[in-house]
Amino acid sequence: MSEPRLLAGAPIAAEIRATVKADVAAFRRRHGYVPTLAVVLVGRDAPSAVYLQQILKGCRNVGIEGRLVEIPGRVSAARVRRRIAELNDDPLVSGIIVQMPLPKRIPLSTVIEILDPAKDIDGIHPLNAGLMTLGYAGFLPTTAQAAVELLKRSGIEIAGRHAVVVGRSNVVGKPASILLLRENATVTICHSKTRDLAGILRTADIVVVAVGRPRLVTGAMLRPGAVVVDVGINVVEGKLVGDVDFESAKEVVSAITPVPGGVGPVTNALLMTHLMRAARAQADLRHAGHPLAGAR
Ligand code: NAD
Repeated sequence: MSEPRLLAGAPIAAEIRATVKADVAAFRRRHGYVPTLAVVLVGRDAPSAVYLQQILKGCRNVGIEGRLVEIPGRVSAARVRRRIAELNDDPLVSGIIVQMPLPKRIPLSTVIEILDPAKDIDGIHPLNAGLMTLGYAGFLPTTAQAAVELLKRSGIEIAGRHAVVVGRSNVVGKPASILLLRENATVTICHSKTRDLAGILRTADIVVVAVGRPRLVTGAMLRPGAVVVDVGINVVEGKLVGDVDFESAKEVVSAITPVPGGVGPVTNALLMTHLMRAARAQADLRHAGHPLAGAR
């Protein structure tokens, strides 16, 4: 097989960012302020902190205000709820993301129950999950959206093809499979209890892997000519690697995303588009004097 096409995220992210920059400038002219993205970090999880720095840099790149909200890991769930409620009520904050994983003592429901769906720009609230599932406009989980957007913007045909998603988390695998279905793929979801992963993968035209296990998927498991999106991010011997064994996969596939530099940059850029959409919707409500504007 000849060298596969590398589905790099950077050019796609740059394209998206250019549009967001123009949006931010137009918003500022119209409303007289720059919207803020609040990134909440509960406790001090080192990998999360690195990821958050990338988001804050992404904000700076497009002229959005990024606000890091650090909450000590030892505080009570009630304190976390109160802090998020304050951000819900802050009219300058248009979007809120909460870095996962949370400390074990703080259940995810603590955040989900309080987060204003209108500011939930990473689509973790059940309202947004429901809107996505039924095909309405809500906020999509950004990483899942990035995986599909990368395929679409790279000109990969999705409709009618067999897409296999490995992983069924609420943040990546499950939404990615719903979004691929929306693009008319025939979708199979594999997970930790799937019996014959290799056998199923060998029937896939498109493979999206989001597990968090280095080199789980090898070239021998893939169909010649398949297109692979590797969402996984793992650190092995100080280096970032995906869930797909790139060296063996590249001998078989027709196109593959690199790790790093594939899904990650697109995720970051798309998050900024969500923030601007949230900011516009909230500002429009306020301008219209809507009774619920700014209220919860
Ligand atoms: P998760 O741990 O919540 O879910 C992992 C999923 O993998 C589960 O659904 C599980 O059933 C499945 N799984 C586990 N072992 C398996 C096996 N042997 N075979 C098949 N399926 C198996 O993880 P997540 O939050 O969905 O993240 C997945 C990966 O994506 C991680 O590496 C994470 O770091 C990465 N990630 C990347 C980005 C990005 O922007 N690129 C964003 C979020 C997450």
